[in-house]
Amino acid sequence: MKNRKILLAEKEIPTHWYNIVHDMPNKPLPPLHPGTLQPIGPEALAPLFPMELIKQEVSTEKWVEIPDEIRDVYALWRPTPMFRAYNLEKILDSPAKIYYKYEGVSPSGSHKPNTAVAQAYYNKQEGVKRITTETGAGQWGSALSFACNLFGIECEVYMVKISYQQKPYRKIMMNTWGAKVYASPTNLTEAGKKILSKNPNSPGSLGIAISEAVERAATDDETKYALGSVLNHVLMHQTVIGQEAVVQMEKAGDLPDVVVAPFGGGSNFAGISFPFLRLNLEEGKKIRCIASEPASCPKLTKGVFRYDFGDTVGMTPLLPMYTLGHTFVPAPIHAGGLRYHGAGVIVSQLLKDKLIEARAHDQLECFEAGVLFAKAEGIIPAPETNHAIATALQEVERCKREGKSETILIHLCGHGNFDLAAYENYLSGNLQKHEITQAEIDAAIALIDTPEIAA
Ligand SMILES: *Cc1c(COP(=O)(O)O)cnc(C)c1O
Repeated sequence: MKNRKILLAEKEIPTHWYNIVHDMPNKPLPPLHPGTLQPIGPEALAPLFPMELIKQEVSTEKWVEIPDEIRDVYALWRPTPMFRAYNLEKILDSPAKIYYKYEGVSPSGSHKPNTAVAQAYYNKQEGVKRITTETGAGQWGSALSFACNLFGIECEVYMVKISYQQKPYRKIMMNTWGAKVYASPTNLTEAGKKILSKNPNSPGSLGIAISEAVERAATDDETKYALGSVLNHVLMHQTVIGQEAVVQMEKAGDLPDVVVAPFGGGSNFAGISFPFLRLNLEEGKKIRCIASEPASCPKLTKGVFRYDFGDTVGMTPLLPMYTLGHTFVPAPIHAGGLRYHGAGVIVSQLLKDKLIEARAHDQLECFEAGVLFAKAEGIIPAPETNHAIATALQEVERCKREGKSETILIHLCGHGNFDLAAYENYLSGNLQKHEITQAEIDAAIALIDTPEIAA
């Protein structure tokens, strides 16, 4: 029998998070105050986040120790398994070896609890009573609900309306772990009211939901805010994934030539890829790391690198990133977790410096890839995850064309067991191809009125 699973022992759960900023040739540019356009210091974030997370946000230390309390919670599902995808290789007649690292074994079914648990822990340490957040597909909201409940913190979730309607089971999960869930835009915040007055039928977006959750935290002393992606500390928490994966690849006697992961704001991509990029930066390895995004929200492949707001209404500091403009509202495609206008600052700088790559896929192509994967390997991937599988299939085709036998590692960052309505749409032929036109992109980018970054 072939050895399909590459497993680690509980004691091999990483002891530190890896902070790639330490090793980056060009450090990320600073966030700017939207009024003065001057760099802001960490103190500007104090109304929203606990001090320890702010320290991590601006840290340049290479390694940050993971507190034992957090590792104890991680042990509920970590280390996560890695698999060699023998069946998929066979179906594809692939000259490339294919592996996947599976984060769907976490309680909420994705990589998101890796940071949710850390964020809830540090908030608890600093006496915070309530955490607000936004959620797109519901993955982040459920991860944070799970984590807050473990540490005895109230959790309030602004869920993008289109997902709230498409994914009722995610909402019930959050409620089961004790959280309150609202369909965003709501009438509960000024930001929500402003959007609804312009468009009462707004399907919502991550940017809008962020505006609402941030406003609640900024206007209440006992409430802080948590973000499930984009920020430096969030990306860093996810590096437990890639550190485990590096060890697992070693155990398998392999090293990936290509690492692929879906891309929303950058957290799961960072999680799997940064520990491999460390090998590139430290040892001169040449591992290609590819971020896979939807063709309907192509900030990495078609956006611009500039300062922009993280939210829609314009309440956050200005961040230097690849963006389609903070007012861009993507089409209501099924990969809710990838419907974000911008990208994390660190991944944006890495892309600008050509240390990583990006690729966009249409949603039909993604579901086709996801169904193929499910039939081969059994796991039904999250719609977001399907983007990485689509990239992997293209890489297999390239290997065939070039007569190469490379090793491809897919980040299987979540399962799709709560996304079956999307699969139903696909299987019944009701899913549309959706690609945004260059004119639509140009129009969205023309609306950005924030400072340009000198080349
Ligand atoms: C949230 C989510 C994403 C997108 O967010 P990133 O921060 O880019 O990882 C992708 N896949 C799944 C399964 C998610 O839950």
